[in-house]
Amino acid sequence: MTTRALRQQLELLRNSGIREIYRPHNTQAESLAALQSHYADCTKCGLHKGRIKFVYGEGDPDATAMLIGEGPGEQENLTGRPFVGAAGKLLDDMLKAINLNRQDVYICNIVKCRPPNNRNPEQTEREACLPYLLEQIEIIQPRLILMLGLVAAQTLLDSKLSMEKLRQTTHEFQGIKSYISYHPAALLRNPQWKRPAWIDLQNFRDDYRELRK
Ligand code: SF4
Repeated sequence: MTTRALRQQLELLRNSGIREIYRPHNTQAESLAALQSHYADCTKCGLHKGRIKFVYGEGDPDATAMLIGEGPGEQENLTGRPFVGAAGKLLDDMLKAINLNRQDVYICNIVKCRPPNNRNPEQTEREACLPYLLEQIEIIQPRLILMLGLVAAQTLLDSKLSMEKLRQTTHEFQGIKSYISYHPAALLRNPQWKRPAWIDLQNFRDDYRELRK
């Protein structure tokens, strides 16, 4: 990360109320575990009111690729794990189709607490929670990101473009090459999107393989 990018990130963290940066730990896993426990009782936005479990993220703390969705659903809120339930099962199948599993990547969301009735997280909620994701990215330092769903893509890319437009090309987020595709929950509701999602996934896989050579 360049000095300028680091300064911008620190400014963003400061503006969002984070006064301390936790990096006293030896490994990425320890840093992530410390942050997960530090933020578990967060009340920065109204989503904490419906929280049963804080859903920070899981997977390889040194992953080459991070998968980022929008927010926890009912099952995630109950278990504290991202992408479980029917959508999680589909994500597992999608990863399997490109010879990966969830332990190979790191999976998390834009917001860490469940929005009521699975509504999209509001702008203020996304802004309140985004610094936690930025910290995760800073610690894991992935070389590829796969943004799952329009909320994740529009939030991270600060874009209002449609999914159709966004997924036509790759993007950069914090200097990291990023792919956009459909959220598995959307694929369950709209099976006709599975074909284009498979194309996205194959492109992502090709880049992933190249980076792992
Ligand atoms: Fe805090 Fe994020 Fe939960 Fe809002 S969604 S209460 S910012 S952890």
